[in-house]
Amino acid sequence: ASASLNATADRTADRIAERAVCAEPLPVLGRDVTVPLVTGGEVTYAALDYAASAPALQRVWDDVAAYAPYYGSVHRGAGYLSQLSTDLFEQSRATVAEFLDCRPADQVVFTRSTTDSLNLLAAVLPAGCEVFVFETEHHASLLPWGDARVTYLDAPRTPDEAVATLERALAARDPYGPALVCVTGASNVTGELWPVRELAAAAHAHGARIVLDAAQLAPHHRVSVRELDVDWVAFSGHKLYAPFGSGVLAGRADWLQEAQPYLAGGGASRKVARREDGGVDVEWHTTAARHEAGSPNVIGVYSIASACRALTEAGFENLVERERHLIAKVREGLAEVPAVRVLSLFGDDAPRVGVISFVVDGWNSSHFAAALSAEYGIGVRDGLFCAHPLVRTLLGGEPHAEGECGAPEAAPGERSEVGVPSAEGGGR
Ligand code: PLP
Repeated sequence: ASASLNATADRTADRIAERAVCAEPLPVLGRDVTVPLVTGGEVTYAALDYAASAPALQRVWDDVAAYAPYYGSVHRGAGYLSQLSTDLFEQSRATVAEFLDCRPADQVVFTRSTTDSLNLLAAVLPAGCEVFVFETEHHASLLPWGDARVTYLDAPRTPDEAVATLERALAARDPYGPALVCVTGASNVTGELWPVRELAAAAHAHGARIVLDAAQLAPHHRVSVRELDVDWVAFSGHKLYAPFGSGVLAGRADWLQEAQPYLAGGGASRKVARREDGGVDVEWHTTAARHEAGSPNVIGVYSIASACRALTEAGFENLVERERHLIAKVREGLAEVPAVRVLSLFGDDAPRVGVISFVVDGWNSSHFAAALSAEYGIGVRDGLFCAHPLVRTLLGGEPHAEGECGAPEAAPGERSEVGVPSAEGGGR
């Protein structure tokens, strides 16, 4: 395994180096971050793409390492390892409920990610449910709604306009049918905070429910289900300083328990029996287990709980204060570069988390990001950030970036021409 890791690490480093475009690298911020290389030695490198995935906290790795020798099947055995793992799994559920300040009757369902959580919610919508979603959402919030009637709301230019737009759309709907509003807490593109409490009040005033996509909000701000008065919250472990593979959907139990299980199988079923006519009768659980069929990712779930505890102990007031300082510093630095334009939907003064997107006049974003990596050791995310309609609105149709999020169509190392400063689309 380590030979294959080393060989891949060498190829990755070579590929990055090939993308350098300037003869002389310039000194730049982030130079003081030193990372040990898997191939030995160390490199000065700044990962500024935590909004995509944040490295797990040392505290989380330590908790996982301490538990690793003891993990066993969850809800599936009387032995010590199985019982211990079951206890830790259920304690993790309670930790997450506390982290999110859930109501007593809320359920915490463990999923693979925010995307998985929102697809789960889409799968349990009551018949005839209408969905309302701003076009500015991440694709995870924009796309899962399947056969439901979806109203895509135009991008608002202020938080007040967001509330007014939603109110108008809800006022025009069938007031007796079920409806769901899906909204982000903090944009993964602009970092801007959305008026969640006000949107929740508007949804409820019109008999609709609301799910909060907290993928970007939860790592930066305290999220209180009770105070925001949202019906569900979704977030991902890998953005909350836990490793990949686990996520959460927390909130009201009724729609979750009235619907068929998201996945059918062991763990979700309480009783299964052959019928006389040859078929099978199934009684499904009415707890969160209903949607957690199969052996669960106990390490992932334990990691999320560990990260929740670490963030709570660090204190969100302290984190927010520190982040305010960092955001101001980066924005001041960027403001000094004439070719740089920071993207914003609600305006420069809007409250935000530490996620900043910008365009550089004359540069295609993938070439610019490649040069930042090759020459300055700075890792950033480029492209349309899985929020294509939003980025196109922010760019006003300028061709700074094109492409999909997710796996590139070309194999790694086979990406197209590099290093050409250009305003043309292309690359990823
Ligand atoms: N929602 C927002 C706002 C995000 O930023 C992301 C990921 O970037 C997602 C949802 C999807 O998260 P995941 O890829 O973990 O499912």
